[in-house]
Amino acid sequence: MVTVGGRNSVESIRVWLDDVRDPEIPVVSITDLGILRDVRHASDGVLEVILTPTYSGCPATETIREDVERALREHGIENGRVVMQLSPAWTTAWINERGRERLRAFGIAPPEDAARCPRCGSVSARELAHFGSTPCKALYRCNQCDEPFDYFKRF
Ligand SMILES: [Zn+2]
Repeated sequence: MVTVGGRNSVESIRVWLDDVRDPEIPVVSITDLGILRDVRHASDGVLEVILTPTYSGCPATETIREDVERALREHGIENGRVVMQLSPAWTTAWINERGRERLRAFGIAPPEDAARCPRCGSVSARELAHFGSTPCKALYRCNQCDEPFDYFKRF
């Protein structure tokens, strides 16, 4: 275990938490999605993990909280505190470049100005359903290669 001054360094905790995946899209981590906002030692000495859920009411939020708490316990931190920070609200702009690459490789078009087909790269696509496999995704079909794909809606 990496410790700094007898405590786990914030950097090493961030590395552990990068193993926590999004329950709905397990190819991306909570770091990729920008859900993990901060890791810090609070004034009372307790380790705090600050999370901003992708949108309130998302059933994945509780799963993510439990996964973070489990990851902390597995690394010997029994008294970690998960803080849900709702403001500023999460936006798809917080998804990092690695996350966007991982989404594309998984066949999901990442949120951009236009839904770009992850198979052929064409931006000519039509929406088949505004709500896809999860509410945050829409189902599109590429006009170029005819492939249906999920588009992670930008918001
Ligand atoms: Zn295509």
